[in-house]
This record gives sequence, C-alpha cells and structure tokens, in this order.
Amino acid sequence: MSTPDTAPTPLTNFLRQIIEADLAQGTHAQKRWAGTPGDAAHQATAAVDPARIRTRFPPEPNGYLHVGHAKSICLNFGLARDYAGVCHLRFDDTNPEKEDQEYVDGIIDAVHWLGFDWNDPDGHENLYFASRYFDFMYRAAEYLIETGHAYVDEQSAEDMRANRGDFGKPGVNSPFRDRSSAENLQRFREMRGGQHADGAMVLRAKIDMASPNINLRDPAIYRIKRAEHHATGNAWCIYPMYTFAHPIEDALECITHSICTLEFEDQRPFYDWLLDRLADGGLIATPRPHQYEFARLNLTYVVTSKRKLKHLVDSGIVSGWDDPRMPTIVGLRRRGYTPTAIRAFCERIGVTKDYSWIDYATLEGCLREDLEPFAHRAMAVLDPLKLVLTNWDEAMGAGHLEPCQLPALPHGAGGQTVPQRHFLLGREVWIEREDFAEAPPKGYKRLFVGNKVRLKGGYVIECTGCVKDASGAITEVQALVIPETKSGTPGADSVKAKAAITWVGAHDGVPAEVRLYDRLFTDAQPDAGGKDFLALLNPESLKTVTAWVEPSLAQAQPDDKFQFERHGYFVADRHDHASDHLVFNRITGLKDSWGK
Ligand code: ATP
Ligand code: MG
Repeated sequence: MSTPDTAPTPLTNFLRQIIEADLAQGTHAQKRWAGTPGDAAHQATAAVDPARIRTRFPPEPNGYLHVGHAKSICLNFGLARDYAGVCHLRFDDTNPEKEDQEYVDGIIDAVHWLGFDWNDPDGHENLYFASRYFDFMYRAAEYLIETGHAYVDEQSAEDMRANRGDFGKPGVNSPFRDRSSAENLQRFREMRGGQHADGAMVLRAKIDMASPNINLRDPAIYRIKRAEHHATGNAWCIYPMYTFAHPIEDALECITHSICTLEFEDQRPFYDWLLDRLADGGLIATPRPHQYEFARLNLTYVVTSKRKLKHLVDSGIVSGWDDPRMPTIVGLRRRGYTPTAIRAFCERIGVTKDYSWIDYATLEGCLREDLEPFAHRAMAVLDPLKLVLTNWDEAMGAGHLEPCQLPALPHGAGGQTVPQRHFLLGREVWIEREDFAEAPPKGYKRLFVGNKVRLKGGYVIECTGCVKDASGAITEVQALVIPETKSGTPGADSVKAKAAITWVGAHDGVPAEVRLYDRLFTDAQPDAGGKDFLALLNPESLKTVTAWVEPSLAQAQPDDKFQFERHGYFVADRHDHASDHLVFNRITGLKDSWGK
C-alpha cells in the first residue's frame, strides 16, 4: 500500500474493533493463492489468511465517483493500510446496460489520485472485474438448482410482485416452486441458451416466502437480458442479480471484511445464506467473508445520486462530470481540492451506524487547513478600479517604477527560505472597487477623501478624490503617494495608515479569467424528501470575471494553488489555464461565509 504521508492517527470505530478482534483470534495457516479468482486453480488454493485482512471497494462503472464514494474508498483502503492488509478494486460490472470503459478508467484514476493502490506486498495487482466470474456464478447457480436451493419461476412480473406479500403479509409460494431439480436445470439451461424471451422467467433462490425479511422471500438471482456487456459482449443473455453476484465476488477474492452502506443491512441474511450454501458444497474457500454496514455520507448542498449527477451533465447545467461545482472526485480535483483534504475530511467525519448530515463547511474547512500553510499568497484584483497617484512623477521621478516585494508565505516555510514575490509600483495601479467609498459608512477604514491607507508592500497614500463618467459611475480614484513610507524602510511607520489594501500594478499586472464558483444548490438538502433538485439550483454558482493579478502568477502551472489575499483559495484550472491565458478557479473563501 502506498501510505499517504500525512495520514492522521486514526480514531477508533466499530469496524476497527471488529478487525482487531478478528486479527487477535487468527489461527489459520497462511496459504497463498494461485490463479485468478473463479479459476479451478484458485479454488483449490485460496484461503483466507487471517493475519491479513482483505477489503474491497466495489464500484459499478456506470458513472464517475463522488464524495460519498471517497468515504468508502478511504474507509476500505484506509483499513487495509492501517492493518497491513490489502484492498481490492473490483468493478461490479454485472449490469450490462449502463456500464462503460470511460467510467472504468475514471474510477481507476480517482482511486489512485486519492493516494491508494491495490497491490499485494509482493506486487500482485488486485484489480478485478465481476464479469470475469460469470462462468463461476453460472456454475454456482446450477449447484443451487441441483441441491434444491433454486428454481426457475415463470410467473408474470405482476404475479410475482403480488405473491411476494409485504411487511404485514407473508408471501405466497409460486406454482413453479416445487418443480424437480432436473426440470429446473433444463429450464435454466434454456434460459442461458437464449430459448426464452427477456423477462419470460427468472431463477429464484428457494428460501422462505413467509420470512419477515422480504429479501429472503425467494429473491431473483438470474434474469434474461439481451444486452451487450462492455467486457463480455454478447456471450451471455442471462445476467446475475447484484444480490447474488456480490457475495460470490467477495468470496472468490477471499475478502475478509465486506464493508457496505446501511441500505444493505437487510440483504445480509441472504449474503450469509448464499455463502453458507456454497461453502457447504465446497465451491468457495472458508472462512467465508462477512458483511458489515456503516452509514453513508450525506453532505449538505450536494446531490450524490448518480442518476441526478448524470442529468446535470447531460442537460448541460454543468460543463461535464469534472465541472468544478460537481461533487465528483474529478470535479473536486478541478475545483482545487487536494487528496489530503479529502482524506482528512473522511477521517474527521468518522464511521458510524447513525444516519446524519455533514455540513459542506466541514469539507471546506479541511481544504483550508491543508492549503493554509503551503499555498503561496498573491494579490489579485477581482473587481478592478483604476487608482492614479497624481503626484507620482514629481515625488518619485517621471515614469519611475518602484520594485516591491512580499513573502509568498507570511508565516514562514517551516525553516526553509521563504520565496519572495516581486512586483512594481508606478503611477497607476488597480484596486478593488469596494476599497473606495465616496460616502464612507461608519467604521470604513479604506480609501475616502482625506484618508490614508497603505498599498500593501508599498507606500502610504492619501486619497484626494475620484473621476466619474457621464452616467455618474466612478472610473478613477485619485491619491497622493507619501514618499519615505515604503514598507520595510525606516520611514514605514512615520505616517499612520488605518488599513492596508491589496493592489496590482498597471505596468506589470496580468489579466486573468477568474471563475468564482459557489455552491450548486441553494438548499441544504436538494436530494431529500421528494424535492425537485432542479428547482433548487443556485443561479450564482458561477460568475466569471476578468481580474488583474500580480506578475508572479504568470508562472502558475495548471493545478497550482494559491491564496489570493483577502479573497480565498484559488487554483489554476487544470484544463483551460495557459501561460498566455490565465484561468483561476475559486476553491473556497478564507472563512465560512455561506449564507451570510
Ligand atoms: P448506484 O448503485 O445507485 O449506481 P452507488 O452510489 O451505490 O450508486 P456504487 O458504484 O454501487 O454506486 O458504489 C460503490 C461503493 O460506494 C458501494 O460500496 C457504496 O456502498 C459506496 N457508496 C456509494 N455512495 C456512498 C456514500 N454516499 N457514502 C458512503 N459510501 C457510498
Ligand atoms: Mg450501488
């Protein structure tokens, strides 16, 4: 495992306690595997090695991963890392209709980017596809039929639904339930052979139609579906159901702790039933895997349903899966989130069985904590207004440009030399429009006529007035430079300034496209309780401005992150930023100001 160097000391949780107890009790001889899960060679040699836990992250390749998946990734790969185990990356590609190679590649990339890999200590790569086990799954189904644990049901979909009963009402046995094994086997082979139409019949496990757990009322385990599969093409016209496939995948890969979200709690009895049957028949290695559930991540202000995310992409509401407003891993990455911040977030929110909502501000807080010590500072003027120092030529010399500098990191660089940023001050500079007030409100300390402020890293200036256009809009602010007050010189404190304002020189400032991203939704729970998430979109989730930025930013490389003084954290866009067209995305503000 690659160990992210900043992994904090993990907090204990119920899963850690289970794993520690299992490791403490381990008594089995260590066995190595051979072959590929599902192969005969593998079956003969595979055994769970209790000295090494195996977890897995099992995405379905039908979309890009999102922040909820990040929780599952950090949990599964993190447990494997912390207990010297292995975590498999397994594509749960048993549903042919919505899966795609694009998603497979995207998922591999996202897990790597988060800082994890799936190799054994000897380098064996644990990257698996459930579709490679289709042969084995088929054999397992035949075994269940042969041993009287499964039957082909030809009831119509409506009858099957009606006969399943509900919470207060036991189900009714199918008229096909008591067919002989031989007849079931023949029918199942016909299903596989393409002799029946899609939906004409299904293979069901034979358990208990009166069970209080509806998942045990003879769940369907195979269906007929003529659909081309991204990996197996048209080799199959029957496909296993997820609830049947998933436990088998875990067992073939010798997973020790199969960790999933709480929605699957009611499926656990079937998971156990199925694996116990297959273990009895010697089809899978023992000890078999066990399933444990934890509460999924619910994050405010985002939707995480893949269907809804796909809709946002397909309808053009966002620019793609990696739009910086998307809660996808690729979106967060393009927004400027770091793997460290996301891992810290997943660690901080913890693992429990309790349903809860996590405030989006928690995620932003983790990002600020990660960037604060390292992100180089820079000045950027996002809403530019020209400031003219009318006495510059007389006071400083005609056309003079004064070199100024400020440290890239105001609190030092942990013992290293702090890099300096260099820029020029001349007669004209850009300031923020909000830094001048004709009629200053009470307590206003920035530019108004008669007031003195410092141009950060430069001189103290005194405001003398402003120029307006025909419509009355302010087009220019005027001030006098006070020589001998430059920052870092003996005269710096000779004149008192009430405030220091950020600025960019008109001579060496560089234009930049700045994308001011905000939350995509105005509602904290856009996904909850039947709300129409499309009616809750934030119309101000993206505002693009042309800014002036200090010259040091002309060297920024895509993905470089900065703190623009007073404005927040920004990243050079990984796709659109270039040295002749600077593009910065706002990651987050300097403090949580949402809704204020
Ligand atoms: P769907 O199955 O509806 O397509 P999904 O979000 O469950 O969507 P999967 O690819 O099946 O997508 O998920 C992979 C893994 O990620 C599963 O083990 C799932 O439990 C976990 N997961 C998904 N969403 C969350 C979440 N919000 N919090 C924690 N884990 C999650
Ligand atoms: Mg799922």
